[in-house]
Amino acid sequence: MKIIFLGSGGSVPTKDRGLPAVLVEYLNELFLFDCGEGTLRQIMICSSKRNKRNEKSKENRGKNDKINFMNINKILITHFHADHIAGLIGIINTMNFLDRRSNLEIYGGAGIRSIIKNLPVPKDAMRFVKIYEISEGQVVEGRRYKIIPFKTQHTAESLGFVFEEKEKRKFLKEKAVALGIPEGKLYSGLQRGESINFNGRTINPDDVLSEPIKGRKIVYTGDTTPCENTVKFAERCDILIHDSTYSNIDIDKISDHGHSTALQAAETAKKANAKSLFLIHISQRYADSKILEDEAGKVFGNSYVVRDFTNVQISAPPEKKILIV
Ligand SMILES: [Zn+2]
Ligand SMILES: [Zn+2]
Repeated sequence: MKIIFLGSGGSVPTKDRGLPAVLVEYLNELFLFDCGEGTLRQIMICSSKRNKRNEKSKENRGKNDKINFMNINKILITHFHADHIAGLIGIINTMNFLDRRSNLEIYGGAGIRSIIKNLPVPKDAMRFVKIYEISEGQVVEGRRYKIIPFKTQHTAESLGFVFEEKEKRKFLKEKAVALGIPEGKLYSGLQRGESINFNGRTINPDDVLSEPIKGRKIVYTGDTTPCENTVKFAERCDILIHDSTYSNIDIDKISDHGHSTALQAAETAKKANAKSLFLIHISQRYADSKILEDEAGKVFGNSYVVRDFTNVQISAPPEKKILIV
């Protein structure tokens, strides 16, 4: 599972930071969370950077690590401020130009339907764009993952998202061998969680499967003030990607109250028992974002300020090691 930060700034793009867009790569599927202006171009740049990096490494030389934006099947929008949705125009338009056939599902809070329907894109594009209005509690489910929306404190429709891999149970071959079950068809039934009959005995999946192993969990808040609901949904997540527009030093100067400071993001991560915290939506006033990383780091050790094109890998459970590339 990989997270690619395509845009790490907030509200105003800078030479170093694009507007919010977070891509999750999981089992050959691409999930895009928010889609700020310029997201498609950021994908192209990131793709080329990855290939250049591979050329430099002995291990990965020749490996094509291209990110094909046509493989994005789900886009999840936290709210409708332009810095989170303006990139949709370019993505939909280009997919249409390239004659996309498969569905592109776009999810967001109440009102997303009319937002998407009114985008300046060719009417034709609506043949592949499918819009889903969701609210807290309406889970988007795949075979191996769940996307759980939760209410944040920013706008009436604003949502954060949990991307969670479903629990898995490992097949313990040594137990099957000990029970005398021959390798082959019978194994597959048990692996699928079905009971089987063998030599007049019933073998239950519990006899040969491990305890459930918790999957990887990523939480993306989008824009929000610190709130208890984030703490609840981010409980024991591996990665919390939290709004960190400001430094706490500037708290008295802030007139825009829909956001969080690095310190507040760190307090949320701590309360939620998160494993790591990635600060995003950095205001243009912090050209040197070290101040934010230090501020968060004092409260919550594993805090990092996201940069455009930062790649983060989480290895398979149960280790779930986090590697920043
Ligand atoms: Zn924003
Ligand atoms: Zn906003």
